[in-house]
Amino acid sequence: MVDCIFCKIINGDIPSYKVYEDEEVLAFLDINPVALGHTLVIPKEHYETVFDAQEESFGKLSAKVAKVAKKINNALDCDGINILQNNGKASGQVIFHVHFHLIPRKEDDGVLTFPNVIGEKVNFEEIAKKISKA
Ligand code: AMP
Ligand code: ZN
Repeated sequence: MVDCIFCKIINGDIPSYKVYEDEEVLAFLDINPVALGHTLVIPKEHYETVFDAQEESFGKLSAKVAKVAKKINNALDCDGINILQNNGKASGQVIFHVHFHLIPRKEDDGVLTFPNVIGEKVNFEEIAKKISKA
């Protein structure tokens, strides 16, 4: 896609620090890392979010994410790794070419913590039914 930064990285029009590439995906270092080795994995096919994804393509992309996660883990001797994937502005997505964040973690690094669970009383039955029926 013409105006997409990540498509430009795939095409070589914008430089990147590549860590893995094949016919279907590219992995490169995030330019604003939240931890050393913070890597993005993107499909070479442009689509914006998981909602636009062919489920099979997304599955293949996920398999490559696992491959790159193992490479990072071996190379950087992580204690753990977060794999995050934002969809839509409300989720924090800024670049609308689907991508996974792979964030290497060390014990007690304080890089990322999940917020407290929602306090309100949750109707689990209702919400589970709503999603399963959709
Ligand atoms: P998101 O908020 O999930 O859309 O994340 C987009 C990510 O892309 C951010 O973490 C940015 O730091 C990263 N990013 C933006 N431009 C570049 C670039 N030219 N090279 C590498 N990473 C980039
Ligand atoms: Zn793109």
